[in-house]
Amino acid sequence: MTTSVVPAAGKGIRMNSDLPKALTPIAGKPIITWTIEALEQTPVVDAIVIVAPEDFLATFERLKHENGWQKVAAIVPGGEDRQQSVWNGLQAIPSETEWVVVHDAARPLVKPSLIVAVWEAANEIGTAAIAALPCTDTVKRTLDGILIAETLDREQIWLAQTPQVFAAELLKEAHEQAIKDGCLATDDAMLVERLGVPIRLVLGDPTNIKITHPDDLTLAEIFLTHKL
Ligand code: C5P
Repeated sequence: MTTSVVPAAGKGIRMNSDLPKALTPIAGKPIITWTIEALEQTPVVDAIVIVAPEDFLATFERLKHENGWQKVAAIVPGGEDRQQSVWNGLQAIPSETEWVVVHDAARPLVKPSLIVAVWEAANEIGTAAIAALPCTDTVKRTLDGILIAETLDREQIWLAQTPQVFAAELLKEAHEQAIKDGCLATDDAMLVERLGVPIRLVLGDPTNIKITHPDDLTLAEIFLTHKL
């Protein structure tokens, strides 16, 4: 069985809005609705656990019923940061879960075919796989945001997206170890990397953007209306 954990509990501070980011509309539907629809249409995903902002659990439950989401097995409250939210979601996955697909609510343009490709790569290697894009820009490292410290070799740089797919026990172990070590990561692959386990890169999709700033809403609407 494969369960998707969808962190959707971000406050969306960079969106300059009082509404949580996942409830912000794009082309007439909340961001979370686009994201869950993609997962509902993905054949390898059997169940979905949504991690929602604590004060908006009722709104998410209402969306589930209005939209008839069949796979949504639980809606649980999020934590202070993304890692804590994913951890909360992991506590609610069905016990038969063998594979976990972590996918950010904030990437509503994800295509079911990409989720399947990452799931297949994870199954092939037996541990984990993530969607990522090779870096096309020249990459500068800075210590203070003012002066360049060095230029990195962009051939070695890939930009991580979600979906990220993990063997369920491995992902739980990685989170437990991170809690013990006080390690805070911005994605789940980083926690699994710390265990020294191989993780496959799968070519992601440039349209699978993460909605972060208000401008990203316009970009997402363009992608959706042009069916890119
Ligand atoms: O903040 P960022 O855009 O990196 O968040 C990525 C995803 O993690 C978003 O879908 C957001 O809703 C989620 N998140 C969460 N709980 C938090 C912070 C972010 O579920 N405390």
